[in-house]
Amino acid sequence: MSRNIDLHTHTIHSDGALTPKELVEKAKEAHLAAISISDHENTNGIDEAIKTGKKLKVEIIPAVEISTYPSPQKEHHILGYFIDYKDKKFQRELEKIREIREERSKKVIKNLNDLGFQINFGDLKAMATGTIVAPHIAWSVINDMGNKGKLKKEFGDIPDTGEFIRKYLIPGAPAYESREAMTTKEAIDLIHSVGGIAVLAHPCWTIAKKKDDELVFDDEEFVSVVKVGIDGVEVLAHRETEVDTKKCVDHFTSLTKKYKLVITGGSDFHGFGSAGKSLGYTDFYLKVPYSILNDLKKLKND
Ligand SMILES: [Zn+2]
Ligand SMILES: [Zn+2]
Repeated sequence: MSRNIDLHTHTIHSDGALTPKELVEKAKEAHLAAISISDHENTNGIDEAIKTGKKLKVEIIPAVEISTYPSPQKEHHILGYFIDYKDKKFQRELEKIREIREERSKKVIKNLNDLGFQINFGDLKAMATGTIVAPHIAWSVINDMGNKGKLKKEFGDIPDTGEFIRKYLIPGAPAYESREAMTTKEAIDLIHSVGGIAVLAHPCWTIAKKKDDELVFDDEEFVSVVKVGIDGVEVLAHRETEVDTKKCVDHFTSLTKKYKLVITGGSDFHGFGSAGKSLGYTDFYLKVPYSILNDLKKLKND
């Protein structure tokens, strides 16, 4: 039996398509030994996942993913593993971030409306069980028949969610809104305050940029995250192509080793659109071995 794991997944409690129970069942089908539930600013799926995990013998790691704003037009995602998610103060902090997120979603929707796209907050709110995030917004625009003509004109065809996000919703893009919910340091401190391990998610999307089709890495920015106390880096994560994915894995492996941080990995599985790859990575060459979870557990107990 394979001993692979997946340390980055989403459920309906943020922008995933599956319930926690369905997600754990899928993990079982994919022969994964462990998965973490890492919804955006939300831990409501963890208990149900643990319950199903006990039955199906899939180990569940309680986790969360927090978006942070180190400076205007910059965004990091920080994963927190083995957090004491029942802590009341921690839950109040997440609630605050969710409120700021909702205000920001309204602004992004207005920006898209101003740019000529049909989308409205009420429909989106009805679709999202938990937190509204970029893949929801992209999905909603792409699947609105009223946007078909405009999308075809701009993209040549109906884009996937990833393409739409890159053109409109990332820092610097026309519909992007910055929000000052948390700095990277504050998110790391919050995760540490509930006994968690803080990991920089998918650095290849946040601190590497495509310039003339070439990936350019911002090592200074990486070091700025190291300086505020990050414990690990999600090195085993995908970019669009196999070649770029390999470049990212090589680059961040060497940086992570240099700063003596722990290496983690995950698919960022959402279950729809192209925001994340398949659960447990059935594509490209990436697999996350169980030994990575042992490294995290060691760090937790040190
Ligand atoms: Zn993320
Ligand atoms: Zn994610």
